[in-house]
Amino acid sequence: MKAEIFTIFPEMVSMWCGAGLLGRAWQTGLVDIMVHDLRSGANDPHRSVDDSPFGGGAGMVLAPEPVFNAVEAVSPVRPLYLLGPGGRRFDQQMARELAAGEGFSLLCGRYEGVDERVAAHLVDGEVSIGDYVLAGGEAAAVAIVEAVARLVPGVMGNTTSSEEESFTDGLLEYPHYTRPAEFRGWRVPEVLLSGHHKRVAEWRRAAALARTLERRPDLIAARGGVSPAEEALLAEYGFDQVTSGGYGPDRSD
Ligand code: SAH
Repeated sequence: MKAEIFTIFPEMVSMWCGAGLLGRAWQTGLVDIMVHDLRSGANDPHRSVDDSPFGGGAGMVLAPEPVFNAVEAVSPVRPLYLLGPGGRRFDQQMARELAAGEGFSLLCGRYEGVDERVAAHLVDGEVSIGDYVLAGGEAAAVAIVEAVARLVPGVMGNTTSSEEESFTDGLLEYPHYTRPAEFRGWRVPEVLLSGHHKRVAEWRRAAALARTLERRPDLIAARGGVSPAEEALLAEYGFDQVTSGGYGPDRSD
């Protein structure tokens, strides 16, 4: 999978992508990340990329010429998305779409935003990572690259772990526990210590349902509610009392 990122802070993006799981995937060639400096598209001696907005107002705008130049100089892998709060909301579904393709490119805005002709005539769409305003697209770009890269086969050490996690089947993931079995008096749910694989799987399914019911009823509605079989599973594992403030019989805080 290839990802190309255009930014005025290439070192910021490279540093993030160079560490941890993503860094290892980059080094081993499982993902091919290219970071391009938008300033390479500037022609003036100061390599300026911004200018004041027509019509007046506060702040600066990322100018079209350096952006078009930088992008056209390298013909990046498409789709090329402009990052911005007004774009399509990035989610796990979009991460899966991007991971299934050959690659994608991201253009990081700065200042008050990017000259609209970039959105209209250079990119293939706009993507947002949520309803809040960042100072620049870099944090959004690395969030997207990381979410997509970990879906690429081989990037995660354990290939099954991304199949069970949050959003994969419309539910949040079940809670995790590790040793010790009792910590400060709080015990791990007994079923997880039982070694009984079928019951562990059922408990996890019930816990995932219960947690999603409690925290994200919108996700439950989107998957068409809870089936009678799932209701039975919730009851069997003691999650049928889930309404608020807890997601299981082991929760005592
Ligand atoms: N004035 C703009 C915000 C500019 S923030 C507005 O009100 O919509 C500067 C840059 O940060 C944007 O060009 C964009 O690239 C990036 N950015 C800010 N918030 C973002 C978000 N929620 N998702 C993706 N990129 C974002």
